[in-house]
Amino acid sequence: MNSSQFREASHAAIEEIIQYYDTLASRPVLSTVSPGYLRPLLPNGPPQTGESWPAIQSDIERVIMPGLTHWQSPNFMAFFPASSTFPSMLGEMYSAAFTAPAFNWLCSPAVTELETVVLDWLAGLFALPECYLSKGEGGGVIQGSASEAVVTVMVAARERIVQRRCGHMEDGEEKEQKMGEERIKLVALGGEHSHSSVQKAANIAGVRFRSVPAPKSSGFRVTAQSLRQKIEECKSKGIEPFFMGLTLGTTNTCAVDEFEEIVAVAKDYPDIWIHVDAAYAGAALALPEYQYLAAPLAAFDSFNTNMHKWLLTNFDASVLWVKQRRSLTDALSITPSYLRNEFSDSGLVTDYRDWQIPLGRRFRALKIWFVLRTYGVDGIQAHLRNTIKLGELFHSLVVSRPDLFTVVAGPAFALTVLTVNPEKRGAARGARVTPASSPDPNHEAYLNDFTSDAESQYLANANAVTKEVYERINSGGEFFLTSTTMEGIFTIRVVSANPMAEEKYLRRVFDVLVETAEGVLAARERGK
Ligand code: PLP
Repeated sequence: MNSSQFREASHAAIEEIIQYYDTLASRPVLSTVSPGYLRPLLPNGPPQTGESWPAIQSDIERVIMPGLTHWQSPNFMAFFPASSTFPSMLGEMYSAAFTAPAFNWLCSPAVTELETVVLDWLAGLFALPECYLSKGEGGGVIQGSASEAVVTVMVAARERIVQRRCGHMEDGEEKEQKMGEERIKLVALGGEHSHSSVQKAANIAGVRFRSVPAPKSSGFRVTAQSLRQKIEECKSKGIEPFFMGLTLGTTNTCAVDEFEEIVAVAKDYPDIWIHVDAAYAGAALALPEYQYLAAPLAAFDSFNTNMHKWLLTNFDASVLWVKQRRSLTDALSITPSYLRNEFSDSGLVTDYRDWQIPLGRRFRALKIWFVLRTYGVDGIQAHLRNTIKLGELFHSLVVSRPDLFTVVAGPAFALTVLTVNPEKRGAARGARVTPASSPDPNHEAYLNDFTSDAESQYLANANAVTKEVYERINSGGEFFLTSTTMEGIFTIRVVSANPMAEEKYLRRVFDVLVETAEGVLAARERGK
């Protein structure tokens, strides 16, 4: 493809992408293809002679489009959003054009230096404590995903504690032996509702993992007390907690662990590296009304959030800050002669290869820079506030029908988590309709007549109804929602943080929930 063919092809591709975005809302959000749909649509191998761009492009509609789940659709209210915007796509285009795997500063100084500046801008936007800025001992780096960020800091934490235990020893076999003995004792901790990436990171880092309880009674949050208790329990068994993964905005309910109280725990156990995973909800720190959550980070060791979730930047861009960048470079810097150069040796430049797992890296700062400049702080804040407000609106609709729904969590950071009542309750529309044989756990009479059998029967019924409603909505194709189960309660999650989210879509998904719940309950009633 020469430059004039590229001009023509890229214009055609951009037109198609624009058309795709303009028609997203009217496309069924979920793909309906069956597993293995794609292979029969393609030849058995690559073509012997090259094809023209129009021939290739036409397969986007024929082959790819049917198998796409439309994450950018305003009807996508599942998981957390993976947002993408036009300025961020332009960043990707330039990044692809320049392709410069800038592992060392020298490999492309602009790639490294823009990243450092943009990460300092973001630290300011999120009101992170000064210790995370590059002018001090800390700094930020862009990782591919939150999972990569967590495994990277966990390895740094592991090596930090091992060095603290063995750093005084002379290099040699005896030291190596002692370091091995220390590593074997290590245990990483994560909250009960921390993302699974914390446990995965422990598997990769070759350490044990223990979960810190965060029950419904604590709002699904890790409390200082439960953390202390778990640390002491581990120590009493001869295993050494060295890492704790806290969460700002858990995947299940967007709960925020008890940061302020955990500051005292961090002081009492300075060998435990405390990381805050704010993959999704960290975006809210761009709003002054949420910045109180950033202050306790001064007592912790690292923090990450994903630009590619709620912050208008396409996958992949997870921003990670550490308080002591030396902890990363001490653990990850290995410099064979072919990677040495006078700039790196001078210590005056950053070589981001020492802050991450891979050697090479993409020019991801460009798309973040484009997004920040196109939207400005005002535009980003307006997007966050708008989607939070839509979440509150949706929540207000749900609580207006206590006969049908129970809110389990939220509204929090544009997320509401709900269940469908197994029998229509009368509270909203007159008399209580729940028969005594199927007690309403919120009702005084039920509480007085409480038996564990009645409770588990109620839960089983509620789960069956909620699951049926959830499955019917997703198979309807108009909306995509996700479910989660906590303490045996099957719930439906609805997230309104998509860049295309609007009130009409939230009102419509609520109407669909009501229609579906009423249909399921009526069918069950008829079947009795
Ligand atoms: N942490 C939290 C709280 C999440 O909700 C998620 C994904 O939704 C992740 C981590 C994993 O993110 P990534 O796909 O960037 O690894």
